[in-house]
Amino acid sequence: MGACLRIAQQHRVRVYPISTGRNWGYGTALPSADGCVLLDLSQMRQILDFDPVLGVVTVEPGVTQGQLAEFLKAKGAAFLVPTTGAGPSTSLLANALERGYGITPIVDHCSAVTDIEAVLPDGSVHRSLLSRLGGREVARLYRWNVGPHLNGLFAQSGLGVVTRMTLQLARRPQAVKACLFGLRSDADLAPAVEAIRTAMGTLGGLVGGINLMNQRRVLSMTAPDQMKGLSEAELRELGRKHRVDAWTGFATLYGTRRTLKAAQAELKALLGPVGRRMLFVSPGRARMLHGIASRLPIGGLARLTGTLNSSLQLVDGEPNETALPLAYSLGTPAPKNQPMDPARDGCGLLWYAPLVPMRGQDVVDFVGMASAITPDFGIEPLITLTTQGGSLFDSTVPLRFDRSSADAVAQAHACYDALFQAGRERGWLPYRFGIDSMKWLASAEPDDAQLNRRIRENLDPAGILSPGRYAEQGPETPVGVLYTQAGAARAGSGEIQEISSGSTT
Ligand SMILES: Cc1cc2nc3c(=O)[nH]c(=O)nc-3n(C[C@H](O)[C@H](O)[C@H](O)COP(=O)(O)OP(=O)(O)OC[C@H]3O[C@@H](n4cnc5c(N)ncnc54)[C@H](O)[C@@H]3O)c2cc1C
Repeated sequence: MGACLRIAQQHRVRVYPISTGRNWGYGTALPSADGCVLLDLSQMRQILDFDPVLGVVTVEPGVTQGQLAEFLKAKGAAFLVPTTGAGPSTSLLANALERGYGITPIVDHCSAVTDIEAVLPDGSVHRSLLSRLGGREVARLYRWNVGPHLNGLFAQSGLGVVTRMTLQLARRPQAVKACLFGLRSDADLAPAVEAIRTAMGTLGGLVGGINLMNQRRVLSMTAPDQMKGLSEAELRELGRKHRVDAWTGFATLYGTRRTLKAAQAELKALLGPVGRRMLFVSPGRARMLHGIASRLPIGGLARLTGTLNSSLQLVDGEPNETALPLAYSLGTPAPKNQPMDPARDGCGLLWYAPLVPMRGQDVVDFVGMASAITPDFGIEPLITLTTQGGSLFDSTVPLRFDRSSADAVAQAHACYDALFQAGRERGWLPYRFGIDSMKWLASAEPDDAQLNRRIRENLDPAGILSPGRYAEQGPETPVGVLYTQAGAARAGSGEIQEISSGSTT
C-alpha cells in the first residue's frame, strides 16, 4: 500500500480508497471528486487478530459483517457483530470510519474503534504511540491511546488509507429483547420523546437504542405495493388495516434475565402512558412466532412476523438483509438468487441523516419540516429517528427516486438540498455527508485556523488522496494508472477503473 501511494504521489494520480464500496445512499463506491482512481480494498479480507476473552478483533478493510458473524460462530465466541441495516456484505472498518451506527449495544460504531493502522499519502505508515512504545495489546484495548487522538483523524477524512482497525465487540448478553410500541397519533410524539429521553437516561447500558418510525416508514416495509399516491386519509386507513400506528417505537434491551425483567418494568412505566400495544419479544420468541405464522393462512401475517423475526436477529448480532428492501420499495425488482445490491440493481436512494436534539418540540418541528418539504419534490416523507445516547436523535430520511428518470434524479437532489438548507437554519445538520453534499462544506464559516485543511496540506500537499472528502477540493491532478492486487482481483482483469463522482445510489 505504501508503494501504491508513493507511485501515486510521483505521478500526481488522485486515488480514492474504498473498502467494500457499498456506501449506498451516500455515493456507493463513487469518489467525492472527479478524476480519481479507485483503490479497491475489498479483497483485503483477513481477520488479523481476535481475543476470545476480551472480544477485540482486528480486521482488514474488506472484512464484512457476514464474515465476522461466520468467524465468531465457528469459534463459538459469545460476542455480537455490530450490525447495520446495510447487511452482511458491508465492511466493518469502513462503516466505523464513516461513523455509521446500528442498534446493538454499541450503537456508535466508531466509538468501538480502539486502534488503527493507516498509510499516509506519502506512503509512510501511521501506528499508534502506545503500540510503538511496546503496548500493542493495551493499544488494542484502549480507545484514547496516549497523546493527541491521532487515530480519530482517519474517521470521516481523507488523511490516510486505513489498512487495519481494531474494534471492541459487545459481549453476547444472557438475554436480548426488543420492545415494540405504537403511538396512536402525531400528538403523542412530543411526550414520547420526553419519555424516551428519561428512559435512555435511567436505563443506561440496558437499552441499546430506540427507534421511532413514522407510519409511512413502517408501511413501506409491510405494504410497499399499496403505498403509491395515498392521501393522508387513505394512509391512515391502510395503517388501520395493517395495525400500524402513526408512529412505531422499537427499543433494544441487553442484559441478564433479571436486569431485563427490571428494565422491562421501567420501560412499561415510562412509555406505557404514551405508547400502546407494548410488546416485548426475544429473538427466540420472534423465530417461533414466525414459524407458526408461516403455517397459518392469514394474509400478510407471515410477512409481518418475518420482518419482526429478521429484525430481532439483527438486534441479536446476526447480519441480514431485512432493511435492504427499502431501497427497492419504489418497484425496482430485487434479485432472486443473489445478495441485494441496490446500486447494482438500479435503485435510486439518497439518505438525509440530520442530528436532532432529543426534545419533544424539536422532534415535532423536524418532522413537520421534513413532511412539508419532501412532497414538493414528489418524495414521500419516510422518517426514522434513532437515539444516539440520551440527548440526541439521528434521523434517517431515505429519499427514494426512479434512477432511470433524469428528472426524478434532479428532483431528489433538489429535495436533499432543500432539506439540508431548511434543517441548517434550525441547526439540524447531518452526521454524515454523501459525495454530493460535500459541496456544503465550502459554505462553513471562515476559520482562521482551518486545522483540517492545514493538516491535509501538510500530509498531502499535492492533494492526491480522497480529494473533496470532508474537505474542500484541492487542485486537479491528471489521472494516471494505478491498481492494487486486491482491486485487480476484484475487477477480474487487472483493468483500471477510472471513476467520476456524480449522482448515485
Ligand atoms: C437500506 C439501507 C440501510 C442502511 N442502513 C445503515 C445503517 O443501519 N447504518 C449505517 O451506518 N449505514 C447504513 N446504510 C448505509 C451504507 O450502506 C453503510 O453505511 C455501509 O456500511 C457503507 O458501505 P461500505 O461499508 O461498503 O463502505 P465503503 O463504501 O467501502 O466506504 C465508505 C467511505 O469510507 C471511506 N473509506 C472506506 N474504506 C477506507 C479505507 N480503508 N481507508 C480510508 N478511507 C476509507 C471512503 O471514502 C468510502 O467512500 C444503509 C444503506 C441502505 C441502502
